[in-house]
Amino acid sequence: MTEERLRIWTIVSELFGQNAYVAALAGRDDCVVVDPGFDTATLVDRVQSNRLTPAAVLVTHGHADHIAGIAAFKSHWPDCPILIGEHEADKLTDPKLNLSRDFGFPIVSPAADILVRDGETIELAGMPLTVREIPGHSSGHVIFVLETDQPSRAFVGDVIFSGSIGRTDFPDGDFDLLAQRIRSKLYCLPDETILLPGHGPATTVGREKASNPFVRWAS
Ligand SMILES: [Zn+2]
Repeated sequence: MTEERLRIWTIVSELFGQNAYVAALAGRDDCVVVDPGFDTATLVDRVQSNRLTPAAVLVTHGHADHIAGIAAFKSHWPDCPILIGEHEADKLTDPKLNLSRDFGFPIVSPAADILVRDGETIELAGMPLTVREIPGHSSGHVIFVLETDQPSRAFVGDVIFSGSIGRTDFPDGDFDLLAQRIRSKLYCLPDETILLPGHGPATTVGREKASNPFVRWAS
């Protein structure tokens, strides 16, 4: 039996049903925050009530619902760096690219502090996080794979959901590319890997490989 060292909280913003996450190792007072959405108050409360200090804001991709809370979150922890994939950073500060302009409420985030690239492993709050770039929903989308506990966890943003995948009808969307990269960079993770998506419930690699109606494992 493995000891559960990792603590993860999910904060669901009502608008768009978007999931933000807070992850911390037991016994530590720092954490990472993933994709601060519209419900910044709950996210800030979750961090503060657990007496945590964020080591970084991780951004899977720059769509408005995943970055809407970054500016407000940073007002509480101004020195907390924002980390995003190297090909996605422009969306943080451009309401046209992050799709908020077309929704009628332009949103911008502070600019990125750290750009990460495919294959890189970074250590934050004691947690090694491996970056995998999976474009197709958004051109510079990354996922963060966390192997601190077994099974591993992966923050997958809008790459894949329980029984679904991210939309590919945005200007930089590409279904074939998304399907190909899901197979080559996500379905190759161990079956028991827990996927923590940007919307909806958690799932596992094995479950999606077996039953995802949009991207099957078999080529
Ligand atoms: Zn998205």
